[in-house]
Amino acid sequence: MAHYPFSDRPELLVLTCTHVLAGADVTLCCHHFNDNSWEFVCGGQHTEEDAVVLSVGELCELDPTLHLLSDLPVGACATRKSRAYAWQKGRIAGEDFYPAAASRL
Ligand SMILES: [Zn+2]
Repeated sequence: MAHYPFSDRPELLVLTCTHVLAGADVTLCCHHFNDNSWEFVCGGQHTEEDAVVLSVGELCELDPTLHLLSDLPVGACATRKSRAYAWQKGRIAGEDFYPAAASRL
């Protein structure tokens, strides 16, 4: 499936949580799933009530460092201890991963 950097497709809808929208300085976790959907959530526990869908463009306005994840391959995830830390990229357990994308991790 084609990959689009966020800047080329700011209207892409992604899943996030109310905690991220509130600007909580907590562990952030980004998943790029096999169906090409994206999730940007904090590291806390979530219920359906915590889920928020918005465009990746809006999300990047809230946190410009998310642009650093625009080349995250399908089947990969990224985490960090807080906004002050660099992203650590890796594979999502149980998701298909395309070996050709390994160089982007
Ligand atoms: Zn959260």
